[in-house]
Amino acid sequence: MNVGFIGLGKMGGPMARNLINAGHTLVVNDVNEAATAAHRELGATWAATPREVAGKSEVIFTSLPGPAEVDAVALGGDGLIEGITPGAIYVDLSTGSPTAIRRVAERIEAAGAHVVDAPVSGGVQGADKGTLAVMVGGAPEIVERIRPMLEVLGGSVVHVGDVGSGTVAKLVHNAISMTTRIVIQEGMALAVKAGVDANVMLTVLREASFGKQLVLTDHIPDLVLKGDFDHPRFSLGLSHKDVSLALELAREMEVPMAMAQMADEEIRRGIDRGWADRDNLVTFLLAEERAGVVVRDKK
Ligand code: NAD
Repeated sequence: MNVGFIGLGKMGGPMARNLINAGHTLVVNDVNEAATAAHRELGATWAATPREVAGKSEVIFTSLPGPAEVDAVALGGDGLIEGITPGAIYVDLSTGSPTAIRRVAERIEAAGAHVVDAPVSGGVQGADKGTLAVMVGGAPEIVERIRPMLEVLGGSVVHVGDVGSGTVAKLVHNAISMTTRIVIQEGMALAVKAGVDANVMLTVLREASFGKQLVLTDHIPDLVLKGDFDHPRFSLGLSHKDVSLALELAREMEVPMAMAQMADEEIRRGIDRGWADRDNLVTFLLAEERAGVVVRDKK
């Protein structure tokens, strides 16, 4: 199938490569042209604008930082809307805003095409291996048409509901995930201050009842115990965007989210330190600072 792909960053890059390897013919675009070099070597062709991508594609994917970029690519000058053909399907893989993607859908659908939001979870490693969890919002018949392509990207493809609902599920997931991580950071700092070895505490967390319910990700030992926050798998800036978007949705829905609000404040403290481009686990440094300890692997 002729497939367009816009935004070949940390997530989009490997996802686009997997689509090429699955036999699709790709047309690619990114404001950073160099991000598309490896794909062009694999046979993808370059298009100068989203409009040109749309004109050459039956299905168009975007994996962009957030709602502002999605809006610009979809509806801006030389955007998808100017080139999209009737019957084509636009799939946004970014983590964005349900309200924003519904607005995009209204405009794109008025041009005779379809829109699906399909945010993903599983990080760069999941994108690389094609093992992402994909949360999909869109009309059932349209989602079924693109399901085989989504299955190339992820081992789990869940149809959540109408357009925008994939993003609702993703934002709720990320708000829960980030809030929980920050609570773990605070607890780890207390454990170390109270004399427990950080590795031992992690083992306890994994093996006691809570850890059995909650899988602690492998990169916590990697990044935190080694103190390496500068090879980001998911940046603090992107976490900031996601939790802010979840809180924006909560306000729209009139649902108070006191815990996520506190997590957001902690993330903002990190952003204010200039850590937006560091791994989102860098907020660990704030917990350490308040506790007056350093949580590191003593091995
Ligand atoms: P990234 O910054 O590495 O990639 C974004 C890409 O979009 C870059 O290559 C950038 O040049 C390009 N871009 C930006 N504006 C553009 C425009 N107007 N036109 C064309 N290209 C443009 O970010 P990422 O980590 O790949 O994240 C992409 C999306 O996936 C985000 O919405 C993020 O929240 C989500 N996400 C990321 C992860 C992760 O672990 N990194 C995990 C799940 C979901």
